[in-house]
Amino acid sequence: MLQFLGRGSAFRSEHNCAFFTCGNELVLLDCPMSAFHKLRHIGAEKLAGGDVNITVLVTHTHGDHTGGIATLIHYEYYIKHRTVTVIAPSEEVAEDLDTLFTRIEGCAPEGFRLITATQAAREWLLDVIPTHHSPELEGRCFGYRLLVDGEKAVYTGDTAVIEPFLPYLGSDTALYSDCSAYNPVVHLNITELLEKVKGRDIKLYLMHLDDTKKILDAAQGSGALLAPLYES
Ligand SMILES: [Zn+2]
Ligand SMILES: [Zn+2]
Repeated sequence: MLQFLGRGSAFRSEHNCAFFTCGNELVLLDCPMSAFHKLRHIGAEKLAGGDVNITVLVTHTHGDHTGGIATLIHYEYYIKHRTVTVIAPSEEVAEDLDTLFTRIEGCAPEGFRLITATQAAREWLLDVIPTHHSPELEGRCFGYRLLVDGEKAVYTGDTAVIEPFLPYLGSDTALYSDCSAYNPVVHLNITELLEKVKGRDIKLYLMHLDDTKKILDAAQGSGALLAPLYES
């Protein structure tokens, strides 16, 4: 199961960030600045149970998903003397991230390894799923199907639609979905989401929350749960 260092949307103080471990690899799904600080405080070694290699799997380039990656790279390089692997969902997003890390943030080239999902060849990375989120980032927003502790998980990233993910939802799959209490153009309304996955025998975890109370009210009786926050 995924655990979360934060499950808030862009305008909340704790942004969405899930993680899991596979051997000594600690995989972060995006890395907002709030998650970097939480991770620094907790200690990546503690999450991985010893020696750790950190990988960040990126969904898209909004700041509440990528804002902490360069700082993580600096920290790991200068303080911990480790290299961070960053996996981009596509070549185009990899180019954008390279500009961010190299040109804008000035990360040391030896401090990170930027590869695409195709190049990554990780057994836990089953599928890259293109979705629609922000019109300005059309074609550059993705979710993933993952294998976490032997269980399949579909992770939407930020999304305005659930349809791209429906073909991947089996009864053996947990769905971690973006949702909103409101009707924003770029996110999924909670009631609409519940309606569209109704009748499917899946575990549904709600993430990227804007108004947690309203979302909980709307989800009452549906069986959906809030994404689990890591407790140290
Ligand atoms: Zn977001
Ligand atoms: Zn976004």
